[in-house]
Amino acid sequence: MPEGPEIRLAADRVAAALVGRTTTRVSFDFNRLKQFEPLLTGCQVIDVKTRGKAMLTCFENDWVMYSHNQLYGRWYISPAGELPDTCRQLRAALHNADYCALLYSASDIEVMRLKDLEEHPFLIRLGPDILGEKPSPQEIVGRLQSKYFRNRQLAGLLLDQRFLAGLGNYLRAEILTAARLHPLTKPANCSERQLLKLARTIVRLTLRSYRTGGIINPPGLVKKLMAEGKSKKEDYRFNTYNRENQPCYFCGHEIESSNAGGRKMYFCPFCQARPEDAQE
Ligand SMILES: [Zn+2]
Repeated sequence: MPEGPEIRLAADRVAAALVGRTTTRVSFDFNRLKQFEPLLTGCQVIDVKTRGKAMLTCFENDWVMYSHNQLYGRWYISPAGELPDTCRQLRAALHNADYCALLYSASDIEVMRLKDLEEHPFLIRLGPDILGEKPSPQEIVGRLQSKYFRNRQLAGLLLDQRFLAGLGNYLRAEILTAARLHPLTKPANCSERQLLKLARTIVRLTLRSYRTGGIINPPGLVKKLMAEGKSKKEDYRFNTYNRENQPCYFCGHEIESSNAGGRKMYFCPFCQARPEDAQE
């Protein structure tokens, strides 16, 4: 599943094609949404926001298109009148005089009034978004120390969108290695210094992923790996995620994996010491 940085990058492309322009045609694949087509046609798009993994396309008349790509959804941007060559199902199409923004395969699409957005059942449960509300490291420490979250294992907590919106499996793995915390650690058992380091790492790596298009390793390391012949992005972008049995770039020990809640969890057994009370 794409994570917050990928959704924000997709939103930037959609925004570049739509914001400040007036739609000439809007169409939906779902019958339940057809009633909104005339409402959104001939209307200027004023903003494209993200909240975690959801995208919000905002119109000047205070209507909003909510979309969540889940696993399959994909945005394409084309020059006006051109459709991409794909067998995917076109679910929503927003045309203007210059471009069309086309959402394929996604099924989680809704249209609602701006004022109803805050009551949306998905959005209402979301924690702050690193790329949206931009919580400070101190605010994140506050959340880590709150009674709701402090006794949870970090492995589950970092994926919980109520804690922070937009983190997924690869960010979780890389953040915990960089912060040198084992996935089964609980915030309650961390020092203030460890929590601050974790909070800063969450912000830093999410922003880095957004800036670099998903390359999490430090720039110096990436340069070195590329010089050693690793030419594919998949081969140099991560230290931990999807690298089980390969050496950790920071210490040389083999990356391990385990299954937690049906999703594979990766960690370095040396960089991330296992807490004494750890139970899987
Ligand atoms: Zn290591």
